[in-house]
Amino acid sequence: MNDSKDSYNTLTHNRFTKEVLQCARTPFYCYDLGLLHATVLEIKRQTAGMNCIVHYALKANENKRIISEIARMGLGADLVSGGEIQAAIDAGYNPQDMSYSGVGKTDWEIRLGLELELGCFNVESSAELEVINQIAGEMGRQARIAIRVNPDIDAHTHRYITTGTADNKFGITLDMLPQVVRQAIDLPHIQLLGLHFHIGSQITAMRPYQMLCDMVNQLIDEYENEGIRFEQINVGGGLGINYEQPDEQPIPNFEQYFGTFRQGLKLRPYQRLHFELGRAIVGQCGTLITRVTYVKESRAKRFVILDAGMNDLVRPALYGACHKIQNLSAPDDLPMARCDVVGPVCESSDVFAKDYPLPITRRGDLIAIRSAGAYGESMASSYNMRPLPQAVFFNHL
Ligand SMILES: *Cc1c(COP(=O)(O)O)cnc(C)c1O
Repeated sequence: MNDSKDSYNTLTHNRFTKEVLQCARTPFYCYDLGLLHATVLEIKRQTAGMNCIVHYALKANENKRIISEIARMGLGADLVSGGEIQAAIDAGYNPQDMSYSGVGKTDWEIRLGLELELGCFNVESSAELEVINQIAGEMGRQARIAIRVNPDIDAHTHRYITTGTADNKFGITLDMLPQVVRQAIDLPHIQLLGLHFHIGSQITAMRPYQMLCDMVNQLIDEYENEGIRFEQINVGGGLGINYEQPDEQPIPNFEQYFGTFRQGLKLRPYQRLHFELGRAIVGQCGTLITRVTYVKESRAKRFVILDAGMNDLVRPALYGACHKIQNLSAPDDLPMARCDVVGPVCESSDVFAKDYPLPITRRGDLIAIRSAGAYGESMASSYNMRPLPQAVFFNHL
């Protein structure tokens, strides 16, 4: 490939250095650890003085280095499988600060969680509660649990990432809640800590969170009247990031997000608030760096064919997600042309963007697909027997 084309002349409007870009075979994920640190510090600043803990939802990015850095900065972990529990232990998270969610926890995963004495199981059904009680009994343990409530709040996000409406599989609907609370209280090996909610992902408006606060307040009142105290209130995660303008908003508006709960919730002094953020912590820290393999012109279209595909970053194919795309090799003053930016995988959905404006692009140009730190590398597969993307790290601070 013709390397002389790599002029890297857009360094002024992005943070990539020539050394970083040259240090791996494309495609690869490039992570900005300075931004990751700054993001976590901002979370700490905005939650200072609140009686709360913030968990990092590992599934957003399970890269060892990333999860270890976040553990080192003192966040808890939100986990959805036995594999993630093990990864979180290896990365140095404290088991007390781990919560374990998911509708399909298997027996070995429950056993692992109980053995490690995880802080909390977020339980999603009456059947699961039975099984946890039974396994805990066999092991001579008490299982600390929160009941995941499906609050039937539509977060108006993509249908595949909405989790808090009545017609999806997550949580316990409000009509069933009293029964399951009663069941949890009555089971001998279950210790009911509180309630858990998670209404969706890539939520940027505060209205759904305000509605969640109202519902939580109402439930706390109702149960307190019956003499039931929830010491733990977990409001999940889902805060979105700015995919259109990653450089204008590299760190999400945590002031607004945490402020919404600080103002909206009427928590009692005995209640501790839990958050579980994934995307908002890691999303803007990652970029997928890829090279143009071919430019293919037809009468109707110009296709820019990359060496990265849906196996490296599946969000566009899976959710119709739009990531900002930049040509790092093209001079700033080149005229723009509309093109379809596609991958090499043998699927029609292997498309990163349609009719996307890029400066005139040629074979060998380096392309940055931005805001790819969340649900990028962690969802990568080797479909078509393609090698998994590598990761490189830099710290611009
Ligand atoms: C995925 C998930 C999260 C994190 O979601 P984000 O949208 O990445 O913040 C939090 N809680 C639970 C239960 C999850 O499944």
